Amino acid sequence: MHELGLCESVLNAVEKRAAGRRVTALRVKIGVLHRVSREAFDAAFTVLSTGSVAQGAAVDYVVSPVRVRCRSCDVVVGADDLLAACLTCGAAELDSEGGDEVLLESLELEGATKTDSSGLPS
Ligand SMILES: [Zn+2]
Repeated sequence: MHELGLCESVLNAVEKRAAGRRVTALRVKIGVLHRVSREAFDAAFTVLSTGSVAQGAAVDYVVSPVRVRCRSCDVVVGADDLLAACLTCGAAELDSEGGDEVLLESLELEGATKTDSSGLPS
């Protein structure tokens, strides 16, 4: 299950950024080429986040497309797969980028509003 490995790298990034604070929600961006199953990712997340700062956090997914640029007509399209030929002119010389990233887009931390410490005794 390759979601496990992806989830592991996401969690590593989460833990680094959270620096010990509790994470309540996070958003990940996953390239469409990874063909991630959300069910599998959710299952992996539940297992891997247990006991970590991200345990029980809500996970939001953004799937990013592959950007394909035609060298012949210069058209750029967002696709959900690598293309064999340009959809506009049929040329086979295409450059593609993206679609394979795994990024931690944002994090919500518990008590994030309490970052200003006035030093008052509680
Ligand atoms: Zn073209």
